[in-house]
Amino acid sequence: MIQIERPRGTRDFLPDEMEKRRAIERIMRRTAESYGYREVTTPTFEHLNLFTIKSGENIVQEIYAFKDKSGRDLALRPELTAPVMRLFVNECAVMPRPLRFYYFANCFRYENPQKGRYREFWQFGVELIGSDSYLADLEVIVLAYNIMKNLNLDFTLNIGHVGLLRKLLEDVDEARYRKITRMIDKNDIEGLEEYLSSEGFEGYIDRIKDLIGLKGGMEVIEHSREIIPEFDFSHLRNLCEGLEKLEIEYNLDFSIVRGLDYYTGVVFEAFAKRGLGAQNQICGGGSYRLTHLFGGADVPSTGFALGFDRIAEICEMKADSAESILVAYTPGMELEALKISERLRGSGKIVLSDVMERNLKKQLSFANTIGAKYAVIVAENEFKEGKVILRDLEKGEQVLVDISEIRKYF
Ligand code: ATP
Ligand code: MG
Repeated sequence: MIQIERPRGTRDFLPDEMEKRRAIERIMRRTAESYGYREVTTPTFEHLNLFTIKSGENIVQEIYAFKDKSGRDLALRPELTAPVMRLFVNECAVMPRPLRFYYFANCFRYENPQKGRYREFWQFGVELIGSDSYLADLEVIVLAYNIMKNLNLDFTLNIGHVGLLRKLLEDVDEARYRKITRMIDKNDIEGLEEYLSSEGFEGYIDRIKDLIGLKGGMEVIEHSREIIPEFDFSHLRNLCEGLEKLEIEYNLDFSIVRGLDYYTGVVFEAFAKRGLGAQNQICGGGSYRLTHLFGGADVPSTGFALGFDRIAEICEMKADSAESILVAYTPGMELEALKISERLRGSGKIVLSDVMERNLKKQLSFANTIGAKYAVIVAENEFKEGKVILRDLEKGEQVLVDISEIRKYF
């Protein structure tokens, strides 16, 4: 006999873990909904080119791509921003803007599995569609920040702007620009210097290193103005003023360039301060333009994706589970017990009864095993008088109660 294992990089979730994950998910949903975001769902697989058009080399190598029986090139989604933008172009292009969408879904990437890095993982994210104002960036960043705060996470929020590097590297072609930003994204400074020298871009080394070395509050804007005087900092300055007004803690950091190629303006990432080791990035987002690539008009958007699994790993949320009642019975009373069980359900409690045809003693011992708080015992003699026994399993006390009154006890 062969034992069938899970595919590499995937996980099973047992009930305790699922309860915790659902509790986290509920907080994410409620927070997003309180800002007027509404849920959308897109297919698990899409046409491959949705992701190859603009997602960047990184993700293309990681894609689970396949041909269906008709020879179509399809892919399991590696992320949801491109699918949600496709949905917007297909279904919502004429709806009043801005549109506020959120999603919670699994994603698939052919990565090297390790702690915090899986081949199937979940993202919770939002897209705010239709505005390129600093106010849109502000809203989305504040929302990401508040979701993480509501989960009591300890994190740092770093904000950059890809426009600075684009301006600085104005004369560099797209392919080389991507190579450079990829190395910055991976913090490979040595590789970056080597590459710039080999391509005859030595002249950029100092300015790039100065720029990506700048970190801190609003004062960083002044320093970067010295490096790139021709860049218009007003959007970034307005955003920072907004963040300060709303008392959001952040750092400006121009080494934040994001792995995906579709970002056009403000970009941001959040990192957990502890518990995740190298895979500590728990949120990534920014403003981007994708719709014109999918056959729509050019519509600006801002969004983020939270790494749900990494957050679940460090979040100390305790899912509160409901108390349970075991309805036990003496021989021959099982259907009466089921009838009483049905009446008890709906009280907010969990109601179980035996399906193993066990004797009363074993039923009650199972009640202890599962940590039930009460047992309702349907015994033939008492039942004939219209009564059942209600036992508090924690206190070890019991009373005889009228069946017609039993619901009042819960
Ligand atoms: P990383 O640099 O860690 O690979 P990324 O830049 O590829 O992250 P995004 O595409 O921005 O990540 O996805 C948003 C979030 O989803 C990340 O911040 C991370 O928390 C989470 N994430 C990304 N890839 C994985 C994965 N393979 N397993 C678990 N979580 C992931
Ligand atoms: Mg990645």
